[in-house]
Amino acid sequence: MITCYAMAIADRINSVNEKIIRAARKSSTDPDTIKLIAVSKTVDAQKITDALYGGVKILGENRVQEAKVKISELRSQNADWDMEWHLIGHLQKNKAKAAVQLFDMIQTVDSVDLAEELDSQARKFDKIQRVLVQVKLAAEETKHGVAESDVMAVLEKVTALDYLKLEGLMTIPPFFDDPEEGRPYFRKLREIAVSAREQGFSIDELSMGMSNDYEVAIEEGATMIRVGTAIFGERDYRE
Ligand SMILES: *Cc1c(COP(=O)(O)O)cnc(C)c1O
Repeated sequence: MITCYAMAIADRINSVNEKIIRAARKSSTDPDTIKLIAVSKTVDAQKITDALYGGVKILGENRVQEAKVKISELRSQNADWDMEWHLIGHLQKNKAKAAVQLFDMIQTVDSVDLAEELDSQARKFDKIQRVLVQVKLAAEETKHGVAESDVMAVLEKVTALDYLKLEGLMTIPPFFDDPEEGRPYFRKLREIAVSAREQGFSIDELSMGMSNDYEVAIEEGATMIRVGTAIFGERDYRE
């Protein structure tokens, strides 16, 4: 049964998709190349199911423990659904094993140490783990990520690991009320991607942009946007 809530979620997804199309056209990008990640942290399984019915195919979670419960519930209820789960929150090394078991993609590789741990866990499960390297573009105490000056060295190391598949870069700029203020950060990540490609690294994905600034991020070259509030509504604040 489609509840009123489901309709609200489906409507919100449609409106996000329309904005994706508009922003992509503005930058002469094929809208079909932009992947929408519905960020489902703090959201219950029912609403996530509603989002799947609304056409979402990729879900993003920021905590391993919380994701573990939801992913097994969602996968068992919707065994035939084509869905992917991405880790978008900081990962501690001691949770690398669980993360490899749970996530199709880990977007938050922020050190060589973590990359090596993920590689050795992935090896045990004979899994090729898809990853993004998280880049930190602003000096904020609370945010994780590789400093710009270290990016190429980290990409070199990640690329050399047999059980990791490097697919691109991710960043979380500071929050601004005015989405235009995020633009220089998105542009910066794209520039880093360009020079990484010139050095031979395979960088297909740029994960950047959230509910309030994904259109700007798409204009600057985002291929993955991480959208929570604009799909599921306001969360009880918890990061
Ligand atoms: C919570 C979160 C998002 C989604 O934020 P919204 O503003 O709700 O769209 C995106 N990326 C990361 C890393 C997050 O933690």
